[in-house]
Amino acid sequence: MFLVAFYLLCCHSAHAAGRGITCTSLSPYVELRSIDMRDVRWTEGFWADQFNMCHRVVIPNMWRLLKDPEISHSYTNFLIAAGLEEGKHDGPKWHDGDLYKWLESAAYAYTIAKDEKLDQLMDEIIEVIGKAQRGDGYIHTPVIIKQRQARPEAKEFRNRLDFETYNMGHLMTTACIHHRATGKISLLEIARRATDYLYRLYKESPAGLANNAICPSHYMGVVEMYRTTGELKYLELARGLVDIRIMVETGTDQNQDRIPFHEQTKAVGHAVRANYLYAGLADVYAETGDESLLHALEKIWENVTLQKMYITGATGALYDGASPDGSKRHGEIQLVHQAYGREYQLPNITAYNETCATIGNVMWNWRMLSITGQARFADVLEQALYNGVLAAISLDGKEFFYTNTLRRVSNLPFDLRWSRTREPYISCFCCPPNVARTIAGVSGYAYSVSDEGIWANLYGSSVLDTTLADGSNITLIQRTDYPWDGRIEIMVNVPESKKFSVMLRIPGWASEANLRVNGRSVSIDAQPGRYAVIGREWSLGDTIELDLPMRVRLIQANPLVEEVRNQVAIMRGPLAYCLESVDLPEGVEIAEVTIPRDIKPNPRHDSDILGGVTVLEGRAETFQSVDWSGELYQELKPQKPQEIDIKLIPYYAWGNRGECDMTVWMPVR
Ligand SMILES: [Zn+2]
Repeated sequence: MFLVAFYLLCCHSAHAAGRGITCTSLSPYVELRSIDMRDVRWTEGFWADQFNMCHRVVIPNMWRLLKDPEISHSYTNFLIAAGLEEGKHDGPKWHDGDLYKWLESAAYAYTIAKDEKLDQLMDEIIEVIGKAQRGDGYIHTPVIIKQRQARPEAKEFRNRLDFETYNMGHLMTTACIHHRATGKISLLEIARRATDYLYRLYKESPAGLANNAICPSHYMGVVEMYRTTGELKYLELARGLVDIRIMVETGTDQNQDRIPFHEQTKAVGHAVRANYLYAGLADVYAETGDESLLHALEKIWENVTLQKMYITGATGALYDGASPDGSKRHGEIQLVHQAYGREYQLPNITAYNETCATIGNVMWNWRMLSITGQARFADVLEQALYNGVLAAISLDGKEFFYTNTLRRVSNLPFDLRWSRTREPYISCFCCPPNVARTIAGVSGYAYSVSDEGIWANLYGSSVLDTTLADGSNITLIQRTDYPWDGRIEIMVNVPESKKFSVMLRIPGWASEANLRVNGRSVSIDAQPGRYAVIGREWSLGDTIELDLPMRVRLIQANPLVEEVRNQVAIMRGPLAYCLESVDLPEGVEIAEVTIPRDIKPNPRHDSDILGGVTVLEGRAETFQSVDWSGELYQELKPQKPQEIDIKLIPYYAWGNRGECDMTVWMPVR
């Protein structure tokens, strides 16, 4: 009873934004605070369709996979750990996290859809998770199952590759979201016991805890637990998780702990682990104001976005690489995998780009946006969402990529470690539930609030019904066909006239954006890559019209990106486009299609293909195919180009029409 009273008190004392996708309502070092995730819902169009697909197809289908021991042992491991079934642990060590992430997607869906069956299902699963937890709060099914079977080798925190803190971190985040979605404390109590366990470990064996910070979702998790419960020792733990990183005994670039974090200026090693760490440390900064963290995060962010990120917002270019690069001492060099490579090392066919890394990039940029209020972070968030994240899932919501290539060729003479087509189930199932929770929760990124007013970060037809920092009510009704069309209309409804500002993100690609209020042009700076600030006294029914011209852009890369020398990618609005062989005339190969510099691709919305997309059509050139069998080099023969019609589709929709070749980058002349 006391606990319930405490949580209610906690929630009531926070202002209404205390139930955001991240709970930053009381964070001292943020410019923007999250909107209560119950206050904004997509109404129609792109993101409403994505949300509905996630709720109606992705979430139930994924639960079917996770509970079927013939396919996945994720839930069965919990049943065994809970003593409800007999058996052994099966699946990767991080499999617990897959169930937690799925549960988080269900909680987001429940927030909006109020689906009672989903609520009941979550309750049933949470009961099992609770029974699987040890009395001291430790929860990690690979070890608990062995301990139930009295196997002496089963000891906690013995191997950093056991991913214990990773699993527990996902439990903490999910528990906070479940509590915000349902008001229930069932999962939060389980997460509280787990966080208490980590706190005790921090006090008793800080080096042990530091050595186990692999793929550290627990930085985000512990901070979110502090924000949700107000428990000061969790803040102490979050701060401690940073301090103890210097105690790591065998630090590596693979795990971002070879040198102290505040000395790091480059993104290195495993990109999922890196991006989770960066997101978590941004959370720690938001609560502590530790400038050394923010300084390193900004340096690393510049290294990523200016030298190591794909045009799809994906990161982690390499299957395998070496680190530290450039060391004169050969003995120091170690293997890194699914890694941030060297600057400008961005291969296409063999791009690794694990989906979880793209999602980590979204989470990191969301936190940097909250801290700074700078649109450049929202730009990257949007770029990764529309391209990298959505490409990872098939249009029917049932198949997934683990790695995300930017070029696919059918005649590759070697196998890659992961499938080059989407799969219904992947032996490493970390990415699919990560995609589900991200799509289910996107509305939580759409707006932010500050003392000045409301910030529009992402566009899509939606209703926002929330309170400003001073507690007054405000409703924004947004209508738009974004990302297909750049016209956005926002009606502002306030009970009585009120002075505040509306900040609208002008994406970096949107030159010549136009703003009108109540049909009249306003002299407001609408620079690309900034927020345009409309400060005025608002009255009921005032209407903002924002026009973001969606020019088709030919993008070239820094010449040091060797893989795309003399090539272009084509973008329109936030979307990267690609060419698929299925759209080419018979006998024309992807590799031979060349884009003239003066091409004028024509956007045409086609509701009959790929769930309804705007395609780009234009005239390109092709050359006769060359027979390369048995050849590495050949003399170039004089040849006249032939003109052909080409049709480009959004990259996120690729690979949905059977196996075919695809490329984002095309030669230009
Ligand atoms: Zn993954």
